[in-house]
Amino acid sequence: MKNPELLEKIAARDQKHIWHPLTQHKTAKAPIGIVKAKGALIWDEEGKSYIDGIASWYTAMYGHSHEKITAAVAEQMQQLDFVMFSGFTHEPAVKLSEKLMEILPNNQEKIFFNDNGSTAIDAAIKMGIQYHHNKGKTRDTIIAFEDGFHGDTFGAMSASGISSYNGPFEDFLLKVVRLPVPQKENIDEVLERLNSIVSSHSCLAFVFEPLVQGAAGMKFHSAEGLDKLVKVCQEQDILCIADEIMTGFGKTGKSFACDYLQNLPDIICLSKALTAGMFPLSITSCSQKVFDAFLSDEVSKGFFHSHTYSAHPVGCAAALAGLELFQSEEITQRRQYIAKHHNEFVNRLQHHPKVKNARTIGAILAFEVDVNMDRYGKLRDKLYDFFMERGVNLRPLGNTIYTLPPYVITNDQLQHLYDSIEGALEIV
Ligand SMILES: *Cc1c(COP(=O)(O)O)cnc(C)c1O
Repeated sequence: MKNPELLEKIAARDQKHIWHPLTQHKTAKAPIGIVKAKGALIWDEEGKSYIDGIASWYTAMYGHSHEKITAAVAEQMQQLDFVMFSGFTHEPAVKLSEKLMEILPNNQEKIFFNDNGSTAIDAAIKMGIQYHHNKGKTRDTIIAFEDGFHGDTFGAMSASGISSYNGPFEDFLLKVVRLPVPQKENIDEVLERLNSIVSSHSCLAFVFEPLVQGAAGMKFHSAEGLDKLVKVCQEQDILCIADEIMTGFGKTGKSFACDYLQNLPDIICLSKALTAGMFPLSITSCSQKVFDAFLSDEVSKGFFHSHTYSAHPVGCAAALAGLELFQSEEITQRRQYIAKHHNEFVNRLQHHPKVKNARTIGAILAFEVDVNMDRYGKLRDKLYDFFMERGVNLRPLGNTIYTLPPYVITNDQLQHLYDSIEGALEIV
């Protein structure tokens, strides 16, 4: 019998045994078989290349398969693949904690390791619940923004306000009250609403995506307003959990979106660009105040939460190499280049008759096409296909078109991305 791999493409073989995430398999088209990625480009099995306009969900910010990251990972694999993180520790984890302390907002003191964004959020929520429990209080309500997205495990899903696909699970979720995001126009109302929530509920934590809500369609809100909300919560000892899984590592212009705030969060969640697209790893960092609430002669007051692959040395090595790139002169310059050109492009888009609400912060650029469209409807698919035909991986969310390219995208590639976006406006 012949080797089946010689007969069929990856994309066709995929259909036999694979169940994809976020997919209705009855109606979805077969996926595209991808064979290689380098820099800002991805190649499919037909040999066609695509500019990765969203850095593979904001992970590969320093470019795909970066040689410094692959080298660091390869070296780590030969030295120490994995060891349990209970009772043992290792240099990559220790060094990563030290390096992160240099750049995280300066009230952060301790690093807890998990293996993806959702579990970083779940760990943060559990820390929040147990923080109050250890102090002899029962608090049962989480405050979260409307339209937030924090992941798909139960705690994270509970905090997420984008609920169109959470229907079957709603009766099983944690208790959450929602707050609109603060804008200049509504900040007094939002503050009033928060004060009323805080006085009528027993709130344990406030979970939020600072400044930009990614999955909501790159919706921006006011740093000043968020700062005020954080302050109100902290006055009531409600732990503020900043979900920087998307915004972390320079996406919003500063290292972290929380760097725009005066009132610093008690807990920060990081993943995605943390490991530069190389390895699943996440972090839940916290202030000394949070950590101290778990110190006790009673063993049970410790945080008994763990994932087998916590602080995987290979992931830590990827993160360390990624951090070095993040702080490099080259990447700093590329970030400035992108921010400057995003600004210019937004200024042009603002005058386009089919564009609403063109906006940019740091490496993020987004706008709404001025027509009605379902989140995953026909026109959305038409736009997606238009981009793919032109060799650009952009994934419109409903009528929101957005890009968050790898910092290493070349000048020409960035121009092609902008041209494709303007071209797309012609077909709607
Ligand atoms: C992607 C994302 C998550 C979930 O991370 P996973 O690794 O997919 O579980 C949570 N919050 C935000 C803001 C994200 O962008």
